[in-house]
Order: sequence, then structure tokens, then C-alpha cells
Amino acid sequence: MCAHVFLIVCDGMADRPIEELDGKTPLEFANTPWLDKLSEIGINGIMHTLGTPGIVPGSDTAHLALFGYDPHVYYSGRGAFEATGVGLEVKEGDVALRGNFATVDEDFNVLDRRAGRYVPEGDQLAEVVNGCKVSEAPDVEVIIKHATQHRCAVILRGPGLSFKISDTDPHATNEKVKTSKPLDDSAEAKKTANIVNALTQKFHELLKDHSLNKQRQERGDLPANIIILRGAGQVPDVKPLDQLYGIKSAVLSTNALYRGVAQSVGMEYIPVNERKDDYTFLADKALELFEQYDLFFIHVKDTDNASHDGKVEEKVKVIERIDKMIGHLMPKVENNEAYICVTVDHTTSVKAKDHVGDDVPVVIAGPEVRSDSVRSFSERACAMGGLNRIRGFDIMPILMSFLKKTPMFGS
Ligand SMILES: [Zn+2]
Repeated sequence: MCAHVFLIVCDGMADRPIEELDGKTPLEFANTPWLDKLSEIGINGIMHTLGTPGIVPGSDTAHLALFGYDPHVYYSGRGAFEATGVGLEVKEGDVALRGNFATVDEDFNVLDRRAGRYVPEGDQLAEVVNGCKVSEAPDVEVIIKHATQHRCAVILRGPGLSFKISDTDPHATNEKVKTSKPLDDSAEAKKTANIVNALTQKFHELLKDHSLNKQRQERGDLPANIIILRGAGQVPDVKPLDQLYGIKSAVLSTNALYRGVAQSVGMEYIPVNERKDDYTFLADKALELFEQYDLFFIHVKDTDNASHDGKVEEKVKVIERIDKMIGHLMPKVENNEAYICVTVDHTTSVKAKDHVGDDVPVVIAGPEVRSDSVRSFSERACAMGGLNRIRGFDIMPILMSFLKKTPMFGS
């Protein structure tokens, strides 16, 4: 029988000691019998996902690392991950950006970066601008797809483009839409920045007086009269997991970014509907497809959301819900050749409401794993474990060696 891996990433779950939790971290404070059980039977450690301690990881770079790719070598911007995640095909040479439908006045001052967040006609608005051309670059195709709420993905397709350009999104209200600038001296970056600036004018022209926006204003909503852009990127030039290790892998995530990173390294997307109160459906879906894939990447975002919102109690509850999912999965796979790896992409401090550079815990449990003295899954307990300190991109080769998918070096 072939062994399988469940790689479960709890986004931003790691934290720092918190006074109102008696100096414990939310993970130490939460009641997590199943995660603790995993630590007891597994091998534990801490890691810096990017391999550069102290540097604050983003979610995209951290996940690229967790899938085995050093982001310092392979990262090429966030935009392509988002576009892939919403179902667009991003080809080699394309530049993909994240977009917001936003509200500007006639001087391009941003009145609302998200056009009030409520954009139920997002699909139709995207169709208004999809396929538009700018006279500066008639050979460049513009592909636009609505994602959720105010969000959309934009792809530029044509010769001589570069993702080394700055955002038009000012990332603040009451500021002007920014002029995109080339971030290096290349002709490609200059050309792409010019296209993006011309497109920004075009978006406003096409959207400002559109009947859809008239309807929005009639019902009291802000007009979605521009798209502001950020995070230009290209698909990373990586050898996918199936070619590297000969495995079939699947992603179970309700969030476009993580689906996008996973699909960019060759994972297949398994559709799952979002649920906040219970994550056992993620385990059930993976179990249903157990024989079809060698590796399941299961992603939970709510730990990070609670942290960014500064909600300590909510974070503890989400962690306990994750524990319930582990408890749902473990008994069902313990008689099979299955490895469960639980880890975190980065520390998100619920006090700072942001990512910080602290290391994250990791555990791997499964057949013949050299268990250690760690008895609970937490930031501090795992630091005493047998994996010691590793880098995020060490995890995948370690898991693949358990599956006997890594070659011998030497003879
Ligand atoms: Zn994250």
C-alpha cells in the first residue's frame, strides 16, 4: 500500500505569550487534545518558513516554501497566485495583478478602496472592462475576472511585459490613485507600467457612467467606477510536485490565494464550500478522495483572520475547531499508511494584529516516525522536539522521504 500525506496548514496560528491568557499563547491556552496527541506520537520542531529568521513571511512566500520551493529563488509576485486561484489560466509571460473595484472622484481621489465592499454585480462590471485595449499597446490583451465582493483579477497578455512595476492602489483613502512606475531599468517594466496607467484611465472611462453604476447609486451604494491594481506577478518558474516527486496532490482551501499557490506547483483544486463553525468537512473531503491522491494540502484561514482582527478569544475557538478536525481525521487514518503534518505559515500576533517574524511549530506523525519527548503541540513545546529547527522548504522533502519519493544521493 502506498502511503499518503495530509499537510495541514493553520494560517497565522502561532502567536506570542498573551497576558490575559496567563502568559500563554492562544495555541498553548486552547484545549487541543488531538493536536497534543499528534505531538506525543510524532516528531516535532520549529521552523522559519522562509529560512531567513526574523524576516516577516507573507502568506504567499510562506506557502511556496511549505510546498518545498525556496521563495528567495522562486517567488515572482502575488498577482499570478490570486488569478490562478479565481480560475484564470496564467500563462508564461503574462503579468497578473490583484484588483479592487473602488470609488474615485473626478480627480482620481480614492473615496473608498472597496466601493463599499458590496458589489453583487461584480461579474457584470468585470465584463464591461474585460477585453478592453489601450492605444499604447494594441497587441496586449486584457483579461479581467471578478473574484468575491470588490475583488477581481487582471491579466495582461502580450509580448515584452514585466511584473516589476509598482501598484496603482494607494492603499489608503483620500489619496490619489497612484501612477504605476517601473521597478527596474528594463524596457519591459517601463512598457508595462505605461499600459497599467493607460488602463487605469480606461477603467474609469468605461465604468463611471455605466448603467450598472447608476443602479448602484440609485439604491444608495457607491459607484464602482475604477479598478485599482496591486501585487503584479508572474507564474513562478518551478518544476511541479508531480514531476519532482511523482506524486498526485490536491488542495482543499476556501481561499483563492492558497489555491493559486498550490495550483501553481501542480496541485489539483478540490472545490469545498466555506464553513466557519466546523472544519471536519475538509477532513471528510480528503478522506473521500484518499486513494486518489498522495498528498492533501488542507488550509484553514480563520486563525489568521482572528489574529488580524485582534480577537484573542476567537483565535482560541478557531484553534479548538481545528483540533476537532484533527480528531475527526486521526482515528480514520491510523490503520492506513498515512502521515499527518500540522504546521503554520507564519506567526500572526493577535496583539500586533499582523504577521511577525517568530518561528512556527511543526509536527509530523505517522508510521515509523522517531517520536520525541514533546507532549503538546505549541510554539514552545515543539522547540524541544526531534526535528529541532528547520526551514519551511525542508518540510516537503522530509515528507516525501517518508513516502520514499526522494532519491538517494551517492551510492
Ligand atoms: Zn498566512
